[in-house]
Amino acid sequence: MASDEFEIIRRHFNQEGLAFAKQGVTLGIGDDCALLSADPLQQFAISMDLLQEGVHFLPGADPFLLGQRTLLVNLSDLAAMGAEPLCFTLALSLPKADENWLERFTAGLAVVAQAHDCPLVGGDLTATHSEHGAITLCVQVHGQRPVDAGMTRSGASAGDLVYVTGTLGDAAAGLSVLKGSSPQDLPVSHAEALVSAFYQPESRVKFGMALRGLASAAIDISDGLASDLEHILRGSTVGASINTETLPMSDAFRAMISESARLSLALGGGDDYELCFTVARERVQELEQQLLATDTTATCIGRIESGHGPIHWLRNGKEIALNVQGYNHFSTQKETQQQTQERQ
Ligand code: ADP
Ligand code: MG
Repeated sequence: MASDEFEIIRRHFNQEGLAFAKQGVTLGIGDDCALLSADPLQQFAISMDLLQEGVHFLPGADPFLLGQRTLLVNLSDLAAMGAEPLCFTLALSLPKADENWLERFTAGLAVVAQAHDCPLVGGDLTATHSEHGAITLCVQVHGQRPVDAGMTRSGASAGDLVYVTGTLGDAAAGLSVLKGSSPQDLPVSHAEALVSAFYQPESRVKFGMALRGLASAAIDISDGLASDLEHILRGSTVGASINTETLPMSDAFRAMISESARLSLALGGGDDYELCFTVARERVQELEQQLLATDTTATCIGRIESGHGPIHWLRNGKEIALNVQGYNHFSTQKETQQQTQERQ
């Protein structure tokens, strides 16, 4: 049964599983604005991500998985700033009011919203003019963090160690699986793990909070490590040397991607939503304690060098030439992804 805008909001968005009560949210969905009561000792952390069919996800994507991904990629930004999720808003532009799609999409959202105690407090809904228009999803998350949490892109100093959580390239490999380009002998469990890395990126929110005041700089990896680490280097006016043989890659990734293509995808594939962060050498023990306490894996992949400059890519201590391009929506280059040319 087709519903009108307000019926959709009432039935699908203003539902218990999504628009639940939370301390700090004085008024949620239903009025012109949501009302939040700010904790005077904390600062707000606000971030927004736009996901468009055909650009960020494949047409016909499973709405339940898409709902999870839509919120998870936003929470990843909070993680990178050490913020605790408070609530989120959601804007959608849809070609049609498909009840089944809405039900599954909001069920996916609700799973993540509940897992992170981050209720939906408002939003907007429009119909695209064309029946064949692309779905556009936009979430804004609101979080809070202590004023001295640090973790901006500008705090890295020479001598700091560079770390990355989890493994790299899995989501990009998962997208290839979804596009049907897996090798025939790829075990189903590996294919499933890679697809799940794309739709359900590991949330690093707890670990991000554990890095408050400990990481000198941090960023979440959305466009690929090479491109995102560069943001820290530029922000902090430093350089970095990265040991490529230490880059963490999963067994599923190695089974899916041929050796010659691995570095390219791990560094430039994007959609990892892992955290890349820097820590002063003398605080590595504290870091190890926080990794244990939050059950997180992170790998030291290199160190920060003085003076802003390009990343030095090393293999077994020797510099190698790499040209890795992360995802860039308005790049003037025709192909922005996976442009690694390795010359030894
Ligand atoms: P307004 O016209 O005042 O902007 P709307 O009529 O668009 O408000 O929305 C009514 C209420 O429903 C508002 O509280 C709004 O935040 C909420 N809302 C609208 N769309 C969504 C959505 N997709 N998800 C959550 N809440 C929504
Ligand atoms: Mg209004």
